[in-house]
Amino acid sequence: MRVLHVAAEMFPFVKTGGLADVVAALPAAQRAAGLDARVLLPGYPAVLDALRRSRKVHDGGTLFGAARVTLRQGVLTDGELPVYVIDAPYLYARDGGPYQDEAGREWRDNLQRFALLGWYGAHLAAGDAGPQWQPELLHCHDWHAALACTMLRLHPPRRSRTVFTVHNLAYQGRFELGDFPLLGLPARCLDGLDGLEFHGQLSFMKAGLVDADAISTVSPTYAREITTAEFGCGLEGVLRSRADDLHGILNGVDPAVWNPATDAHLAATYDAADLDGKAQCKAFLQQELGLAVRSDAPLFAVVSRLSQQKGLDLLLEVLPGLLAAGAQLVLLGSGDAALESAFREAARAHPTAVGVQIGYDEALAHQIIAAADVILLPSRFEPCGLTQLYGLRYGTLPLVRRVGGLADTVDTTTGFTFDTADAGALSDAVQRALIAWRDRPHWRTLQQNAMNRDHSWSAAAAAYTSLYRSCRLRS
Ligand code: ADP
Repeated sequence: MRVLHVAAEMFPFVKTGGLADVVAALPAAQRAAGLDARVLLPGYPAVLDALRRSRKVHDGGTLFGAARVTLRQGVLTDGELPVYVIDAPYLYARDGGPYQDEAGREWRDNLQRFALLGWYGAHLAAGDAGPQWQPELLHCHDWHAALACTMLRLHPPRRSRTVFTVHNLAYQGRFELGDFPLLGLPARCLDGLDGLEFHGQLSFMKAGLVDADAISTVSPTYAREITTAEFGCGLEGVLRSRADDLHGILNGVDPAVWNPATDAHLAATYDAADLDGKAQCKAFLQQELGLAVRSDAPLFAVVSRLSQQKGLDLLLEVLPGLLAAGAQLVLLGSGDAALESAFREAARAHPTAVGVQIGYDEALAHQIIAAADVILLPSRFEPCGLTQLYGLRYGTLPLVRRVGGLADTVDTTTGFTFDTADAGALSDAVQRALIAWRDRPHWRTLQQNAMNRDHSWSAAAAAYTSLYRSCRLRS
């Protein structure tokens, strides 16, 4: 089966979160399973720099106000995965992130930047943006790719079916209603239950939800949660109306990137049969971050975006109790300025027990997940969560709030869970982890259970294939 993934991120070239990891791993797993999977990406500088063996396959002229748009096909670095890259310097050739400038402000032309991504997804699928290869299934990821579903649904000689995957419903791609004409869509696409209009704005996310042939999200629990007012971000009604087409498929772990037995970032490698290397990783990290080098101090860790979603304000509340019990905390992350400075302050106040690195650091993320005893995810909501999966694989027990993908992947045989998003419930779970930590044989059993869990991408890839096969054209 020919599948084209349309996405705004792909590890290691451009990444702000789990989406990038999925877009790197899923097409590779699908190709290993015999599908002809390919990826369409915006031509950010890092993507164009990595593009090899490329040739121009389409001339887009001045689409969405961008002078000189071309579509190139090639591979990235030494990879085998065929990629289509939209070379549109006016829209994509700039420093900063994929969605925001260096000061954290949304790019003012994000509507055009991601309408162009959707346009190419739809037109490749319709067979009129490059003659040679046409996907049977267009797999659009998050709001950035959502307009492909709308544009393809409008396209008369449409041949491809569409799956829209929600990686995080909280990021919706909302724009001024007055900018609708810039999209070049017929007026009937705007209004009504099936229109792009959402509370007086344009919503790309809504477009994907109403126009895709099938919808998926990244865990079965999140698939149920987003049909409720608590988690639906206002789109719960739309999602309920498509309940029969809504599926939850858990993400996997890419073993080429996340494997403690082969991880080149680690001071020492290890596996489930021999955890000596894990102890060395812990001592190394404690030393690197200026913490007391103590194997008997339970090391709690966070590797996360610092946003309201992640519940790390609750962690600040329970931190005094955690430290009083002799534990240590390491945090790597960036985002909300108030959280950044609160964690920095905690590190200043407790230099031998709290290590904080503000920023994004791939190598340090691996070192922390290998070194820690407990990985913390007290999230208010969590579509899937990858960090707890990495924790399981590295024998680093997850302590999670039981929501979304966290509820689907962590239980009392592999970690610690709590239900209510408050400091009291988190503190109880921390106490349970501390009690378990003191019982070494029990801890070792939990680690074995965690490390033996199978979260391979092959299972997820097979689930997507059956979704693709069952997906019917929406009229
Ligand atoms: P989300 O997509 O909501 O950010 P996920 O758990 O799905 O959360 O994925 C987060 C990904 O980003 C993981 O691969 C995690 O290791 C990585 N990550 C998050 N913050 C950092 C950071 N500061 N440095 C390096 N990697 C990070």
